[in-house]
Amino acid sequence: METPLKQIYQIRIPLPFRLNHVNSYLVQDGSFWSVIDPGLDTLVTEKSWVQTLHQLNVKPSDIRNIYITHFHPDHYGFAGKMQRWTEADVIASPETFTLAERYFSKEQGVRNLHFYLKSGMPETLAQDVAELDSRLLHQISPITGTRVNLLEGDSIVLAGEPYEIILGGGHAEGSVGFWNAERQALIGGDLLLQKITPNITYQFEEDEGNPLASYFETLNALQRRMVRTVLPGHGPVFQPQTDYFESVIAHHKERLDHVLGIVHEAGSAGTTIYDISMSLFSKVFDNDSARFALGETAAHVRYLERQKLLRVQESGGKYSVYENVQY
Ligand SMILES: [Zn+2]
Repeated sequence: METPLKQIYQIRIPLPFRLNHVNSYLVQDGSFWSVIDPGLDTLVTEKSWVQTLHQLNVKPSDIRNIYITHFHPDHYGFAGKMQRWTEADVIASPETFTLAERYFSKEQGVRNLHFYLKSGMPETLAQDVAELDSRLLHQISPITGTRVNLLEGDSIVLAGEPYEIILGGGHAEGSVGFWNAERQALIGGDLLLQKITPNITYQFEEDEGNPLASYFETLNALQRRMVRTVLPGHGPVFQPQTDYFESVIAHHKERLDHVLGIVHEAGSAGTTIYDISMSLFSKVFDNDSARFALGETAAHVRYLERQKLLRVQESGGKYSVYENVQY
């Protein structure tokens, strides 16, 4: 529970997914406390918090700030309820607030289903995956109290020490990292994880996004800071190895090459994003993984499309992916 940073505690909260926990952080500043990433809105989360606050002898009214690293339900979901319980401010990047409102809506459920079908996912699977999406809506409590925006370069105090706000993207646009320059420590949400690379996901009808490019930029920015300690959103606190950044980038480059290879083989017939995802992720074994695989594949296809190495054409309600060559 203690971390290398004094008065910053890691709380592991169970999640009902294959990724079975999320890390929250509880930060002491004299007589008041802050929470970073309260978790998913479930009874288990609520119980974990009641127990933790009891153990540390913290009253709900001692919590003044609820920080959110990014808008994903496992980090953001419980914020609204915790705010009603503590009357704390909810503090996040403006994108986090906007994206949460956009993604956790019935309309988004319809957009998701369209994307699954247009990507070539079989209809029953697409319906099942869309059903999973709609279930998540019940695990997010809306924020009704005070919201405060965090902007790039802002400075805040956690446990008596200054932290700079770094904004990143890729896994979730508007992700916040809390950077302690003195200690070269990052409270990073899902920006940097130890064993798994964060899911980089895209849906084609979405505006001008290119999340993989955005993630590469974020990695470059963090690499320049010489991060020595990461307090991540999942898994234990870790020290990135010297080749950490190179190996994450290499992993995505390999995947990009793999996608190019599959599309090249498909030739003038083209292929679907779903078929690429099945070949890329041979170990997909449940609906949740199928959804992650599809989004991750779309993000890589999008990157290659922007590099003009692939073409994505929509016709008859389906996306077809082709090599960018004349046949
Ligand atoms: Zn997460």
